[in-house]
Formats: sequence, structure tokens, C-alpha cells
Amino acid sequence: MKILVINAGSSSLKYQLFDMDRSEVLAKGLCERIGLDGCFTHKAKGEELVLEETMNNHSEAIKLVMKYLTDEKWGVISDISEISAVGHRAVHGAEKFVEATLMDEEKLAIMDSLAEFAPLHNPPSVVGIRACMEVMGEDVPQVGVYDTAFHYGMPKTAAIYPIPYEYYEKYGIRRYGFHGTSHGFVAGECAKLLGKAPEELNIVTCHLGNGSSIAAVKGGKCVDTSMGFTPLAGLMMGTRCGDIDPAVATFIMNKEGLTPDQMSDIMNKKSGALGVSGVSSDFRDLAAEAEKGNERCKLALDMFCYQVSKYIGAYAAAMGGVDAIVFTAGIGENNGVIREKIIKNVEFLGTKLDAEKNAQRGFAQVVSEEGSRVQVCVIPTNEELAIAQQTLKVISK
Ligand code: ADP
Repeated sequence: MKILVINAGSSSLKYQLFDMDRSEVLAKGLCERIGLDGCFTHKAKGEELVLEETMNNHSEAIKLVMKYLTDEKWGVISDISEISAVGHRAVHGAEKFVEATLMDEEKLAIMDSLAEFAPLHNPPSVVGIRACMEVMGEDVPQVGVYDTAFHYGMPKTAAIYPIPYEYYEKYGIRRYGFHGTSHGFVAGECAKLLGKAPEELNIVTCHLGNGSSIAAVKGGKCVDTSMGFTPLAGLMMGTRCGDIDPAVATFIMNKEGLTPDQMSDIMNKKSGALGVSGVSSDFRDLAAEAEKGNERCKLALDMFCYQVSKYIGAYAAAMGGVDAIVFTAGIGENNGVIREKIIKNVEFLGTKLDAEKNAQRGFAQVVSEEGSRVQVCVIPTNEELAIAQQTLKVISK
């Protein structure tokens, strides 16, 4: 069975075609600069094709994808009908989409109504789904897979903010959490790696990339997570501030005469590691500069590690203990120095890294010392595969 995964942005569209019987990627690519001059990249059979090709809208982009998926030279299927379903990455399902969902016009209208929850991400997903419906016809199921869904079941004690309750009722303001597809995927892979059932494990999953979040996964279900109503909350990130005293925002706005949008811009794009270091949002740059003696780069790195370890401790308390800590995403998968600093801070939980294993990368493995009470795992995330798996589950129902 073949499943296509689509990740649509405002002017881009990424795709991967999976053969689910072998969990294998048959082809993948990227439509960029949709509505502008257009660039199309397609990888299949170990080769890559790059074309300058104008795509006026997402429907034209999907048509181009279909053309090359079925192309004599570049294609991997002989007809579109071989695609059993399409899974779409969607960011914010709010309280409306609490699991992967088969889409239709009625559901798309609900998604339209959620645009303000994720103005940069939700509208392009809707456009991508509509484009697939138009190009592929009604018989091919289109499934929305939401980043918030994995976190939906967390208890109200973790989800509700201590502000007047009417704002939750009127506007749906609560903790939703993000990166859910990744947290759910690596938690599942961690259980497999440890040879245990997900129900038996308390896992802290650390998705550390440009955007970073942590989740407490108890018995396979999320019970708390660091991101909140928006992906600005929780850990400090590349350019996002994460949790700060909320009064800091109003204080700066008053002092500098800033509008809400200007303040939001500062907290989303000019804060975090970039804000503290004044140098870069990329952790490789920070490490290089810290090595040369830049104190603010060192401070930014130390603050990040400190915050991650604080969350690990907090989530151990939230779950009544922890069996495994998982690192994933750009920093989590590749930066052994950061992992070492974080784990050093939480050694009291009963874990120690195996230095040799911690220096390796590129595959899923346990990197803690044998006999550690808490296992530390590095697990490459694969959100596309997770979306394909969830899509398959929806259409198999
Ligand atoms: P995004 O959240 O945009 O998907 P990533 O998961 O790619 O971001 O994470 C980006 C971060 O990961 C950067 O800070 C970068 O330094 C780090 N990173 C990515 N690849 C590597 C690598 N090969 N070695 C060390 N650090 C890496």
C-alpha cells in the first residue's frame, strides 16, 4: 500500500511517497516559490531532478508532483490510483481535531475557523488538502494529522492556565502543545528499542531543534508538555524566548512604546539563544563562539541545558518517576555535548551516559551506561513516516 505525505507551507509543498509494506520512501521532493518563479525538486531511484517551473498555486504544484510520480523516467508508480491515501501535516487542531482525521468539506470549514490559532501554518494545510482533493478526486482519502493531537488528552491540571476561566471558554485559551507527531513517534520507538510495551513506561521526550519542546509520556499518553497555547512557550529556543514572566512583555511594551505585534516579533524572532548570545540562533555557531571565549554564547548554551534538565526533573515529578529520556530533532540527535551537559544535571535520577555511544549518531540507540536506572535514548524523529502510519490507521478503520 502506498501513502503520500504532504507538508504544505504558504509558498512551498514538501512530499514523500511511502511504500507502507516496507516502510520505505519511494520518492520525495519539494515545490518551492509557489506563486512566484517556482522551483521543483524530485528525488527517486537514487537520482535528483531540479526544475525551474512556475506553479501558480498549490493545485498546480500537486499536479506537477503527480506528473513526476507517474513519469516514465522519474516515476515510481504507473497511476495515481496506486496512492491509497494522502496524509497532511497540520499544526493546530485545537479542541476540534483531537486525532488524525479523514477530511471533507465540513471538516475543512472547521479548519478554516481555526486559522487564528496558527495563522502561518493552518491556512496552508487547508490549501494543500483542497488542492489534493481537486487534483486526485474524491475517492482518495485525505487525512489531517495534527501536531497538537498527541497532547490533547493531558489532564486539565496541566492544560488550563490560571487566568479567568472565561477566556478558556470564550477563546479556547489553554495549553495545547506542539511537535506531537514527533513526541508520539519517538516515544513509540523508545518502547520498541527497550523491548517494553508503551503502557509500562514513563518517558520524557526532548524534541530539541530550532523549535524545542519536551513532553511527559506516561503509559504511551502525553500528560504534560512544555509548549502551550502557541509554540512560544516552554524552553528557550533558537529565536523564541519560551517561558518568561508575562509582566516582562507589558513592561517592555510600555517602556519602548511597542505594539502587541512588535512585542510578539521580539519574543518569537529576536529572543532565545539569538537574543542572549547576540550572535546566532544555531547551536553549532554558539558552540564555536563559546569555544573561542564568547561568554554570552556560553551563557546561552548553559541556560538551554539548565532549562531542559529542569523540565526533566519536573516531568519525573509529574509522572511519579521516569524510566527513559529520549533526545530527538536537530540538536537532540546531533549534539552530544548538549546531551552530556543535560544528563550531568539529572544524574541524581539514576542515569549516566556511555561516552562512546553518546559520540555516535545517525541511528536509534540507548546511550546511557548499562545498568542505568533511567535509560537515555537518541532516536531520530521521522514525522513524515509517523504521518503516513497515522493515515494508514485512519483509512484501515
Ligand atoms: P527545526 O526545528 O527547524 O526542524 P532542526 O531540528 O533542524 O530545526 O534543528 C536545528 C538545530 O539543530 C540547530 O541549532 C543546529 O545547530 C542543530 N543541528 C542540526 N544538524 C546538526 C548537526 N549535524 N550537528 C550539530 N548540530 C546540528
